[in-house]
Amino acid sequence: MMLDEVLKANENFVKEYEPKKMSHMPQKKLAIVTCMDTRLTGFLEPAMGIERGDAKIIKNAGNAAVDRDVIRSVAAAIYALGAEEVMVVGHYDCGMANVDPERLTDAMKARGIDEETLKDVDIKEWVGAIDSEEENVLNVVEKIKGSPFIPDDVPVHGLIIDLYDGKIKVLVEDK
Ligand code: ZN
Repeated sequence: MMLDEVLKANENFVKEYEPKKMSHMPQKKLAIVTCMDTRLTGFLEPAMGIERGDAKIIKNAGNAAVDRDVIRSVAAAIYALGAEEVMVVGHYDCGMANVDPERLTDAMKARGIDEETLKDVDIKEWVGAIDSEEENVLNVVEKIKGSPFIPDDVPVHGLIIDLYDGKIKVLVEDK
């Protein structure tokens, strides 16, 4: 299991690591909503000039499915943690843009998920599958801005990053 490997790595890490106290407030007063894609790990942060302690990063599959939980996290970043700006950062070549709902449902059934559970579920919507990475960023920006829990004075920008060359394109600049 990976667990053993992780614990071993942690043992080595702790030996080398210089303990350090840090504030839980995002130093750049920034909240980022992005995808859980593995290729963004350790890549998005330097590409945005963000270091440990700088920003709240909220991740989910496809940075889509802006549900109560995403709004809750963005709201917490704003009201409890002092975030003053929000950036939705999508990326090209997103796995959630190529989800086949039928295959996904079949895979779930094959792993023992009850037919009854899946019966009335729009699986594409439920899993947060997207049709276009750019369009998704625009939708998510709109959803966050449109939420009654998010104040009007917090800019919500929409960006998209290229995983190959690291270039970020601005899709929505919220002034
Ligand atoms: Zn993705």
